[in-house]
Amino acid sequence: MTAPVVRRRLLLVEDDPQLSAMLLDLLTGEGFDVDTARDGQRGLHLGLSRSYDVAVLDRGLPAIEGLDVLGRWRARGVDIPVLVLSALGNPADRVEGLDAGAEDYLAKPFDLDELLARLRALVRRHREGAALLPVPGGLLDPQTHEVVAEGGGRIALSERECDLLETLARHPAQVFGRDTLLDLVFADAEDIGVVDTYVYYLRRKLGREVVATVRGVGYRLGRS
Ligand code: CA
Repeated sequence: MTAPVVRRRLLLVEDDPQLSAMLLDLLTGEGFDVDTARDGQRGLHLGLSRSYDVAVLDRGLPAIEGLDVLGRWRARGVDIPVLVLSALGNPADRVEGLDAGAEDYLAKPFDLDELLARLRALVRRHREGAALLPVPGGLLDPQTHEVVAEGGGRIALSERECDLLETLARHPAQVFGRDTLLDLVFADAEDIGVVDTYVYYLRRKLGREVVATVRGVGYRLGRS
């Protein structure tokens, strides 16, 4: 039996267009699904609203500086493993990066093979510690796309259903606008109705209470 191919999601926050394009190529070729951000504001937003297996975060960024982005993620409970890239490579800078909550720190210029090896190690450690996410009626396992039901048994979700539920479950207190969910989960779709359709699918499989409707605003994870 062969293991399923699991695409790992990576957030790349880097303002240097050439380096960003080169890393995008390299990382995509290594099997990562990559989202890119060119400034700290966009990087902050993506890290807060989407889920990733790992992030590569440049330190010197326009809008919001890299370590500030990292501090804000950590303050909001975002636990993506982060590798900080920096032109500053002396020990004090490294310590500052690690103190801000980075798992790893690499000074520019860096060796590409070393970057890849470190990212693989971060993803592996994160996956091993990956928690099941509480949802009404059970626990979501984002790796297998299943909900482990409280009464036993597993309910299989499609990839899109899982992405939608995972997005809500990672930020259980947050109300997501339908347009935000369209952008985050169904980036290739244009009709906002697809969000409602997938909420319907989730409720049909998992019970009506799994997703709460916030009238006039959007959806959030339901309360058990
Ligand atoms: Ca930079």
